[in-house]
Amino acid sequence: LTRLYTPLTALANARVDVMTALVSFERVFEVLDLPPMIIERPDPERLPAGPVSVEFDDVRFAYPAADRVSLASLEEVAVLDARGGEQVLHGVSFRAEPGQVVALVGPSGAGKSTIASLVPRLYDVDSGAVRLSGVDVRDLGSADLRAAVGVVTQDGHLFHDTIAANLRYAAPDADDAELWDALRRARLDDLVRSLPDGPETVVGERGYRLSGGERQRLTIARLLLAQPRVVILDEATAHLDSESELAVQAALTEALAGRTALVIAHRLSTIRTADQILVVEDGRVVERGRHIELLAAGGRYAELYHTQFAAEEERREPDPVIEVL
Ligand code: ATP
Repeated sequence: LTRLYTPLTALANARVDVMTALVSFERVFEVLDLPPMIIERPDPERLPAGPVSVEFDDVRFAYPAADRVSLASLEEVAVLDARGGEQVLHGVSFRAEPGQVVALVGPSGAGKSTIASLVPRLYDVDSGAVRLSGVDVRDLGSADLRAAVGVVTQDGHLFHDTIAANLRYAAPDADDAELWDALRRARLDDLVRSLPDGPETVVGERGYRLSGGERQRLTIARLLLAQPRVVILDEATAHLDSESELAVQAALTEALAGRTALVIAHRLSTIRTADQILVVEDGRVVERGRHIELLAAGGRYAELYHTQFAAEEERREPDPVIEVL
């Protein structure tokens, strides 16, 4: 019996191994064989001309399981599976009027980036709708949507190519005058003029090493050249020296002017001047209004402000409005 038993257990163990392998394979194929996440309508609608409004109408959203898999190593899948397709946004509604700057604030993991990512339709909502000038983003053609919505993040992607090519990537038809205008408004013209090859200087890993602030300004110049009507900006606090910080700030002011903007705000100056602040917590908008109103209300925003920004405020010049308060 012992002689029989050993090979039998070996066989049983082998079967377990095969089963495990099969499960892993299935998961690998789930990852590789993903259906396209975003489906374009065969007869898309056009975005009306002119400034654009951005509207979230009772948006509910959970990240698709496949995306969680691609983010994590396969060993982590079981853990993520246990979490299930947890809902991240629980009925978010707001409206940014054409030309308004809406600042999203709130604790880490609240859902700010998720809200921002639904505008260029990186994901589709589970229920509710995201509309640009009244048109559901799911009904827009992808080229139309891409041209309408520009995204600036702290580490915007730069290609290992010349500065000019990096800029023209967003606007292939731009002429030299337009290119220099974008560089000037992004506070980069002096730097580019000082480089031996000017705009033909290769940037990136093996090329000219741009500082963090210069990289950011180059991505802003790209946005200025592309002229999207809606800007999604992730201000994530960069550790820039104060001169760089001022240049980036000036470039961003240019980028937001006359555009509808959704800003994941970390700078007090942005929040103070925003037309509307949305306080996001646990996937919900828990407060909304302007800086002064929300401070006076003494709710979550006031609390956030006092813990995160009050020290920064003290370093500022006295502000008559704040003094009245
Ligand atoms: P932060 O200020 O730290 O960037 P946030 O407010 O932007 O946070 P989100 O990044 O939108 O928050 O995250 C909201 C929730 O969604 C978090 O629980 C986060 O773990 C989860 N999440 C974010 N991105 C993904 C993703 N690609 N796949 C799965 N879950 C995600």
